[in-house]
Amino acid sequence: MREEGTSPLYGGIEAGGTKFVCAVGSGPEDMRAETRFATTTPDETIGRAIEFFSEQRRQLPLTSIGIGSFGPVDPDPASATFGRITTTPKPGWANTEFAGTMEKALGLPVGFDTDVNVAALGEHRWGAARGLDTFIYLTVGTGIGGGGVTNGKLMHGLIHPEMGHVRIPHDWKTDPFLGSCPYHGDCLEGLASGPALQGRWGQRGDTLPGDHPAWPLQAQYLALALVNFICTVSPQRIIMGGGVMEQRQLFPLVRRKVQELVGGYVQAREVLEDIDAYIVPPALGNRAGVLGAIALAQHTVGGQSS
Ligand code: ZN
Repeated sequence: MREEGTSPLYGGIEAGGTKFVCAVGSGPEDMRAETRFATTTPDETIGRAIEFFSEQRRQLPLTSIGIGSFGPVDPDPASATFGRITTTPKPGWANTEFAGTMEKALGLPVGFDTDVNVAALGEHRWGAARGLDTFIYLTVGTGIGGGGVTNGKLMHGLIHPEMGHVRIPHDWKTDPFLGSCPYHGDCLEGLASGPALQGRWGQRGDTLPGDHPAWPLQAQYLALALVNFICTVSPQRIIMGGGVMEQRQLFPLVRRKVQELVGGYVQAREVLEDIDAYIVPPALGNRAGVLGAIALAQHTVGGQSS
């Protein structure tokens, strides 16, 4: 039996555009403290996170901090602007120094990545992607974002994936809605995010009945994107989280549409026969983000690779 206080403890921040969740622990079965607060100005919000971890450190030995942040962000440790939120349209947050501010204030190593990559890491470590070396985590909510792991490593590259902004065929025949993305209009996020649903139908998605025509159209747009991801990344599984995916009736619709669009071309049992286990909700539910941040903190100091 493990004695209280003997295992290394880590701090995790799920930094969302509307709220921050900060926690201390070492995994789903060992969470010691948690707080959540609204995302206001960078100074105030990051200040509250620093205050929380400073307070926790008086009683608990913290090893490192992991941050999964809304973005776009700079996740490249070799870059001069590493640890910053970069071109976000969120007022006041563009070019915010985030990881560096935390590191300076707390004197601890800080890991930093996109919210979706970090949620993917949580699912890899403790959830629906255990044992896989290539998978995608897609969140469909206020925005659409995707990340994940390829060949055992979190997806980076030029910057990081922006799967929410892929272009998909717009079904103009049944859908005259122009799209809600401020950058692209009718990209995937512009057609299938929560605000897009609301803009198209004039009411929030969670107030639309389960048999509303909104859902087959939503499933069609999501499936078009998933088929593109299946063809480019060849993921062994696709995890779909976020507020819009709380509408569970979407899962069977998306799965059926993906099978139809793949057209039998991708010869994988997972897609052809076992699609219920292939396109799935996060096993950690809405805890994927904050637990992933704890996993990232562990990675940052060389613990538990994934
Ligand atoms: Zn876009």
